Amino acid sequence: MTRRTIYGPVPSWRFGRSLGIDVIVAPKTCSFDCIYCQLGKTINKIAEPSPNLCIDENDVLRDLEDYLLQIDLKSIDVITFSGCGEPTLNLNLKAIAKAIRKELPDFPFVILTNSSTLNIDSVRDALQEFDIVCVKLDAASDELFRRINRPANDVPSINGVLEGIKRFKEEFSGELRVQSMFLKTTYNFSNMNEEELSKLIEAVADIDPDVVQLCTPYRPASENFVMQASPGELIAICKKFRNYFARSRIWVFGLHDKRDVIVKWRDKSALEQKALSLLRRRPCRIVDISNALGINYSKAKFIADLLVEKGFAEMKFSNGEMFLRVKLPIC
Ligand code: SF4
Repeated sequence: MTRRTIYGPVPSWRFGRSLGIDVIVAPKTCSFDCIYCQLGKTINKIAEPSPNLCIDENDVLRDLEDYLLQIDLKSIDVITFSGCGEPTLNLNLKAIAKAIRKELPDFPFVILTNSSTLNIDSVRDALQEFDIVCVKLDAASDELFRRINRPANDVPSINGVLEGIKRFKEEFSGELRVQSMFLKTTYNFSNMNEEELSKLIEAVADIDPDVVQLCTPYRPASENFVMQASPGELIAICKKFRNYFARSRIWVFGLHDKRDVIVKWRDKSALEQKALSLLRRRPCRIVDISNALGINYSKAKFIADLLVEKGFAEMKFSNGEMFLRVKLPIC
């Protein structure tokens, strides 16, 4: 059986072993086309939830039933809605979250959203089903927002996006996190220069989330002109956030890392497909595959080599580490 909507558990630096729910699936559909996206270029760029995205609760429950036969649930820390695009574009999001919650009531539910749809009432309503909502904010000036996130035409301006986030915060009783991706480019624009960084920090402080996640694109990015922030630069940025947030509310990529935890599977067959399903949602290091599949490093390396040999995947060196990623078309 081919599972389309459930993948992982994937090793996440923020959440540990994360069982992924993909309510978008192939092809990549998003309201943004971020220059650093690990999924490559956006194929369907749409601004609002669409009836054309037809994954519903029955599709996900069918996949979940099959998945639960194979995985040891002790190997999952969290259920995360994320995948081949922006999950809030699926009109069935609320029904899907409710249905899975019935099956897996004991896990925290997390969703990663790019924030562009939070001005839509039905989206904010669907997000109430989650325990942790992680919203993206990479820039607070409209020009830089457009250069980094490359939103669809009908996505609101950055001020509209910020209004949506603040409105959601007023209505939401769970944990709100803001994630910002810090980067430089060979085209000389960046969200790390003093002016843009100050605006961004003030905007995040105005939102006043429970947690701020400071990240940098450590996996291969959609555009070659994207450059990662160094650990020292991230720490300097963190210090500036400290003017507004207590240390415990700031998570910095590289300092917090929950990735290296091993997953236990009841069924160790079809490792190649499991690895491929993982890679369709994110490029991985060999050690990530080893941990996610609960196998030793050399076995993971063997599977990686096999996928490369068969033409399904390729090795890509990014920011000092070697990643395996699926070959296009992705998702
Ligand atoms: S990083 Fe997220 S929001 Fe940006 S294009 Fe990729 S999937 Fe969409």
